[in-house]
Amino acid sequence: MYNESVDGFFGDYGGKYVPEVLRSTIDDLEKAFKKYINDPEFLAELKILQRDYIGRETPLMFAEKATELLGGAQIYIKLEGLANTGAHKINNAIGQVLLAKKMGKKRIIAETGAGQHGVATAAACAKLGMECVVYMGEVDVRRQQPNVASMELYGAKVVAVQNGSRTLKDAVNEAMRDWSANFKDTHYCLGSALGPAPFPDIVRTFQSIIGQEVKSQAAERNIKIDSLVACVGGGSNASGFFAPFFDDTDIKLYGAEAGGTGSELGKNAARMAGNAAKDGIIQGYKSRFLIDDDGQACSTSSISAGLDYLGISPQLAMLGKSGRIHFEAVLDDDALKAVSFFAKNEGILMALESAHAAALAMKIAPKVPKDKAVIINMSGRGDKDVFITSPVFRPTEWKEFLKSELHRLETNANVHSKY
Ligand SMILES: *Cc1c(COP(=O)(O)O)cnc(C)c1O
Repeated sequence: MYNESVDGFFGDYGGKYVPEVLRSTIDDLEKAFKKYINDPEFLAELKILQRDYIGRETPLMFAEKATELLGGAQIYIKLEGLANTGAHKINNAIGQVLLAKKMGKKRIIAETGAGQHGVATAAACAKLGMECVVYMGEVDVRRQQPNVASMELYGAKVVAVQNGSRTLKDAVNEAMRDWSANFKDTHYCLGSALGPAPFPDIVRTFQSIIGQEVKSQAAERNIKIDSLVACVGGGSNASGFFAPFFDDTDIKLYGAEAGGTGSELGKNAARMAGNAAKDGIIQGYKSRFLIDDDGQACSTSSISAGLDYLGISPQLAMLGKSGRIHFEAVLDDDALKAVSFFAKNEGILMALESAHAAALAMKIAPKVPKDKAVIINMSGRGDKDVFITSPVFRPTEWKEFLKSELHRLETNANVHSKY
């Protein structure tokens, strides 16, 4: 479906650069995916989970006030943030965990950076009765405690990875190591549309429900789409949102990358916008990466943890290079402004990641005729960002709150038993 890879490649990008021990596991996964994705029983089961567990379909909301204020295109927002667990990541997690269960696997492992994919995978495993181990860099474990707490509540084991920079790329390496040792009973549930083939095809396919719904919702309501705008970290929400429209070349596709605090290398995570990134092969696939001349990872920066990654989906890299997708870097400050704009004017609190797409849409919309629509994918809701947005929007009050919380815990600990 939707421009899938040719032998794992999207033009020059993609491939499956995995250690010898994982070759047959990767091949088995590809075969199983191709079988089940055409199996009516699997699809019926998936559909029920999408409807009753995730809460699909998610609304396509007309942003009336934003439209009026921006004075051009009709603005619509696809509310993926209303999906159970608060973001689009569950679409992929539930699909892969169900697939693994059909393949007879008993154990699911996953990598996570900010923790959103870990939370989605842990929740999907709880729902489908699978053992779950999440690898997370020790630095991320410390700064993302609310997500670690959720994963543990869902019954997952969170392993703090102590290697390297103790962040996402080290978590991926550790998950790969586990998979190489335990592939017989274990599935590696990868979180974005990247990694070795067939993961980019698998993740895009499970996320394509977003774009399929948008297509039918737009057709039903006679919405004339000018452009679709999504944020791009690894590229899963953008892939799923865009995929059903790849061949509708009248519809423009915009990818918003993390512009961080500026265009200098190290101050952002823009792999496609700008020209800092290089072709490379890292963690099993060929794509555009923020690496130095020796192939070492450069540091990246973004206010949104979900966009702060050095690589990008090989398919999106190919479509960016061909000009089908137009990429722009959005600054931290503009993302924060978009959070505030859509909260005040639409009652929608966007995740900081999604706010990058919203900020780009705010720039595009005024130049688009009034009878056409710009659709933003709100990949997630912003509740999770309260620790990042509060110190920006209300620094003094937030500090006081944290102090008083600490005081409360120190003087009034353990009043509840642990369930
Ligand atoms: C993880 C995440 C992203 C970025 O990941 P993609 O694979 O690029 O979609 C964007 N938005 C939210 C809310 C996320 O949790």
